[in-house]
Amino acid sequence: MQDTANDVTLLEEAGAIIREGGLVAFPTETVYGLGGDAMNPSASAKIYAAKGRPSDNPLIVHIWDFSQLEEIASELPLEAKKLSDAFWPGPLTMIVPKNDKIPYETTGGLDTVAVRMPSHPVAKEFIRLSGRMIAAPSANTSGRPSPTKAEHVAHDLDGKIDAIIDGGSVDIGLESTIVDLSEGIPTILRPGYITKAMLEEVVGEVRIDPGILSENEKVRPKAPGMRYKHYAPKGDLTIINGQQDAVVAYINAATEEALAAGKRVGIVATEETRAFYNRGEVLTIGSRDDEDSIAHNLYGILRNFDELGVEVIYSESFSTPRIGQAIMNRLFKAAGHHMIDV
Ligand code: AMP
Ligand code: MG
Repeated sequence: MQDTANDVTLLEEAGAIIREGGLVAFPTETVYGLGGDAMNPSASAKIYAAKGRPSDNPLIVHIWDFSQLEEIASELPLEAKKLSDAFWPGPLTMIVPKNDKIPYETTGGLDTVAVRMPSHPVAKEFIRLSGRMIAAPSANTSGRPSPTKAEHVAHDLDGKIDAIIDGGSVDIGLESTIVDLSEGIPTILRPGYITKAMLEEVVGEVRIDPGILSENEKVRPKAPGMRYKHYAPKGDLTIINGQQDAVVAYINAATEEALAAGKRVGIVATEETRAFYNRGEVLTIGSRDDEDSIAHNLYGILRNFDELGVEVIYSESFSTPRIGQAIMNRLFKAAGHHMIDV
């Protein structure tokens, strides 16, 4: 079943599916989520099964009203109220100590719970009408790029879930920022649209989990999901980093070489560089003057390359000022950390 988002009856039906323990994919402002009743252990089990996701990787609980956070937290850190006033509803997930209402099946066995209040009007209305809190990871098969359109969800999960609410293309295109408030200084476990600087304006000092910055595999990220290979396109992706002219020259030479070896090649270009690439499958991700466009298109482009059947992909690097850290975090994982400086 594929619904159109604005129809209240359809959202009510989707809510009924949640109450009966079923699974519904729904649009949010970040990416599409795969939702189930957060208090129902069997719904969580179904989410893991549909995604092929390891069951120690906890789910984010989606709410529409602040009182729901109070209902499931064993204690509320001071920062939670401040951050919620500043950024909720919106693309920020907070980790707080959990109470007994939330089953361990939803938190991957952890004593903390990740909570987010999405701003997407369809997500808000769907959660409200369901009368439940909704546990939802991204609605992709585990290891594939997160879905930014209903078609991506259908491609990965058709036949495995009960409904998809089609809300068109999402706004941001990268998953939420995750900030851990469960111990000491607030710590970013996953970078996103809400940056460290934005959080610091509200709560003072904020740290970044060393595990997501380090190349050293012994420094493990705290968020279980950040430890897995993720966001991987089927082709072998390499990021090329440096001055524009050098990057273009390198990618063109490497493309010739790969084509000569009989490989299908994809190139991730920007509006600024598109005209300089003449060979291979060239896709434009967005403009360097508009970093939101790059975030918005990243996952869709990685999926497009899968459809084109390219075996080798070269991408420019996007260390843009505001959300460059979030973009590069995802791109690095998609590339298995393979970057060449030129
Ligand atoms: P996704 O739903 O695909 O956006 O993934 C949710 C992310 O949140 C994963 O990286 C999880 O590991 C992380 N996460 C959820 N709950 C917790 C928690 N209690 N502590 C740390 N990380 C969490
Ligand atoms: Mg995910």
